[in-house]
Amino acid sequence: MRMRPQEATVIHAEMFNKDNLDHDDTEICCDGCELEYSLTDYKILKENKKLVYFLYDDFIVCHGCLFQEIMSSSPNGEGKLKVIDYGASYFLNFEEEGPSIEDEHG
Ligand SMILES: [Zn+2]
Repeated sequence: MRMRPQEATVIHAEMFNKDNLDHDDTEICCDGCELEYSLTDYKILKENKKLVYFLYDDFIVCHGCLFQEIMSSSPNGEGKLKVIDYGASYFLNFEEEGPSIEDEHG
């Protein structure tokens, strides 16, 4: 039986409205490993493809924790996750060799 793909939304630093925040530069924190960066640092890390935070089931998780979560919840070592990035969406396939991206129409 194939599991229904779960969804995660890519978090962009630009999504946070700084006018509504108390601090000049708020921090974003992974609910899994408590990895924490300021939005300014996160923007740079994401642009350099070092780190991506996702919104997943009401949690904010870093990509490392998200991959672990998907792998641990898939009994045969394979999982599929729908990733939503602004308007676009694509599927990430999780296998033993690591995640790979599959086109929405693929
Ligand atoms: Zn984490």
